[in-house]
Amino acid sequence: MAQYSPRQCLATPGASDFGFPFAPYAIQEQLMQELFSVLERRKVGIFESPTGTGKSLTLTCGALTWLRQHEELVRSELLQRIVEVEKKLDRLQAASAQAEDWISAQSESREQQVELQQLNHLCSLLDKREQQLVVIRERTKERKKHQKFRTRPKPEEEQQVDNEHPSDADTDSDSDHELGDGPEEQSEDRYRPVQIFFCSRTHSQLAQIVAELRKTPHGAWVRCVSLGSRQQLCINPQVRKLRNVGLINERCLDMARSKATANPSKKSRLATESSASLSRCPFKAPAKVESLRDVALCEPLDIEELAVEGTACGGCSYYASRSAQDDAQLVLLPYQLLLQRSARQQLGIDLRGSVVIVDEAHNLLDSIAQLHGSELTRSQLELARDQVSGYKLQYARRLSTRNLLRINQLLFVLRRLLKLLEPKAGATSVRMLRTYELSSEGDFDNIDLHALLEFCGRTRFAQKVQGHATRAQREPRPSENQRPGSSRQTLLQHLVTQHKTLGKQPHGKRKLAETHAEGEEELQMEKKSSGSAQVAPSPIRPLLAFIETLTSSAADGRVLLNPQVGMVKYLLLDPAEHFADILSEARAIIIAGGTMQPTQELKEQLFARCPERLVERFYSHVVPPDAVLPFVVAKGPTGASLCFSYAQRGTPAMLKELSMVLQNLCNVLPGGVVCFLPSYEYLDTVHTHLEQSGGLENIARKKRIFRESSGAADQLLQQYAEAIAVPKGGALLLAVVGGKLSEGLNFADDLGRAVLVVGLPYPNRNAPELQQRMRYLDERLGSGAGNEYYENICMKAVNQCIGRSVRHIRDYACVFLLDERYASARIREKLPEWIARHILEPNGVAFGAVQARTARFFKNR
Ligand code: SF4
Repeated sequence: MAQYSPRQCLATPGASDFGFPFAPYAIQEQLMQELFSVLERRKVGIFESPTGTGKSLTLTCGALTWLRQHEELVRSELLQRIVEVEKKLDRLQAASAQAEDWISAQSESREQQVELQQLNHLCSLLDKREQQLVVIRERTKERKKHQKFRTRPKPEEEQQVDNEHPSDADTDSDSDHELGDGPEEQSEDRYRPVQIFFCSRTHSQLAQIVAELRKTPHGAWVRCVSLGSRQQLCINPQVRKLRNVGLINERCLDMARSKATANPSKKSRLATESSASLSRCPFKAPAKVESLRDVALCEPLDIEELAVEGTACGGCSYYASRSAQDDAQLVLLPYQLLLQRSARQQLGIDLRGSVVIVDEAHNLLDSIAQLHGSELTRSQLELARDQVSGYKLQYARRLSTRNLLRINQLLFVLRRLLKLLEPKAGATSVRMLRTYELSSEGDFDNIDLHALLEFCGRTRFAQKVQGHATRAQREPRPSENQRPGSSRQTLLQHLVTQHKTLGKQPHGKRKLAETHAEGEEELQMEKKSSGSAQVAPSPIRPLLAFIETLTSSAADGRVLLNPQVGMVKYLLLDPAEHFADILSEARAIIIAGGTMQPTQELKEQLFARCPERLVERFYSHVVPPDAVLPFVVAKGPTGASLCFSYAQRGTPAMLKELSMVLQNLCNVLPGGVVCFLPSYEYLDTVHTHLEQSGGLENIARKKRIFRESSGAADQLLQQYAEAIAVPKGGALLLAVVGGKLSEGLNFADDLGRAVLVVGLPYPNRNAPELQQRMRYLDERLGSGAGNEYYENICMKAVNQCIGRSVRHIRDYACVFLLDERYASARIREKLPEWIARHILEPNGVAFGAVQARTARFFKNR
């Protein structure tokens, strides 16, 4: 696919040219202009813009303005270049007729001719593409005029739809895509425009982008497509009810392949029955999918709207969005689809020359590590062992020697992993190993894990085993002496008989028998049994994911072996490797978040290879300076120093100080107060102390008290809001740093007139995973890097808590950082800029002054 890079540079536009839905604030204008410049200069931008400053809208308007101007420049420059080269060519040809050195004149002419040919080719591809898009738009307009989408087809209609479009080519290409033959496979010569891939953590955040996009003029022209998994977009009720994403994927692919695998000439009754039950998905009829793709390209739809449109028109939303992706200018997708190479390949996402925007990126490193990590528990391993053994026992006589060998290898690996997880008296309980050390200790280092994984992928082994296990669960077990292969002896007998029988057959026939047994009947049996009911997640999939991590570079990660709790886990230590493709392929990258500080580790771990491309910008809040009043509260009401370290926070003295702080502040704070404590355990301790000391009763005179629990938070938040909404109402919410209420929630206006953060929520330094990461960072980035990482985990959590309040320009709130350690310059510089800047007396003021200033702050409002 071809692309043109303009030689000219775009000038950064003025504030009014960004299509912002209202007059932008100064920081919004600055961010859009800086973003424009980063995209134009092919840089990597790290942008911090506090929550409530319209960050996502600003990013979208900035990026789309750049894209539109870039597209216009490509078109105008191409035409201009063609005219220039044509003129030059005329001049050269005229000159070469008279030139003495006609050889060099001819050679220059040839170069110009080649360039002209390329430019004309690009121009014609661009024209062709634009014509196609015009056709799509007109077709959709016509459809909308004349055709109201029907509701979901009834079963008899579904069959008709299926028969109307028996496209084998479509089925085949899908299978290919799923096998990871990405964009390179597309041989069609077409123009590839610059695309913007906008990714965020959740679909609701992406839906918000779509909602905001519609408020801007960009919503009318941009082709915006939301990508999701089959789990979110599948509209086939029979498949949706499987619930598990792996099963839904497999089922969908089975249906796509069923046409190819089912051969009616074969005499197997089972195969025929199964093929009927696995006919192609009626929602994948090309006309319906194409129609939905056109709709998706003509108006921005979020993932839910896309699914609703699909259900309404009877076309598969998943395949429609995939097919629209190539022509989209703005692609919205969640982290897991962008950050994993395998997901990108499956979806055919080509990042070359594109713009990548990662929003809500405050935990980007952790997200990459999490997406590429893997964990197995002892019970999963035992279940996997039992299921694979049961499968082998059932089908051993039909399996080829080669396949039987692979299954035996898998069983061997399973047993060895279980053995490694056996608690041993006197042995170190938790150990951290390199991947090769684990396979060596487990004695499976001579097994070719790549080949094993290839076998499992090719034969869709996880699905077969799952199907068999489900059927075995559902059907009454035959008695021991009836069960085929119920003992090792019987199995051996089977194998001997099979060997003898096969030995008498010519080679070709034997192969046919194997293929038939494994490729048709048995597979169809498994599909049939797994397809009709809700099935528990397969333990084989996590097992294979874990084995895959063992094939990765030993330097990238470690395996945590914990026999005590029965868990083996792969930790990715070097996320850079998994971001390297994005970095090298994308034209420009924007990493944005409300609280990006501290950014040092991000720069060191992801962008160390390209410091010259980095641009960092930290923007202030849109609220006026007097709308935020942050305090470092280093001393309690009695004048005692506040230190909520793990060792001290549970002491009677510290509990008493905290109780008094809460009581005093609740007397002067209006509306809702959210107090973040370092752990659920400490929350219980504080609550019990308040209850027993009478503090709870005192606070209750002013505020209703709520506490976060590990269960659902919706009802709690509802009650909290209701307690604040009543006249003279107020509430104190005791929450946990890193808990459900500390990220993504909006405590705007009276819901959060104050946020208190009690102590510095450092993670447990003795946790083996943390120790390993710290050691790795020290080794890789120099002594102290591990400690920096440790501190950053804590400060990122604190910053998330702070970000719950002050959510829009008219909002105002106090922030209390309760601990003398917040007075240290090192800690303060890791706070968000808009908070750190407003801390008047960083070393802390007397508690009386804190209380008095707080009262004045609210009185003045
Ligand atoms: S083709 Fe679409 S609707 Fe049909 S099973 Fe697959 S994802 Fe679901």
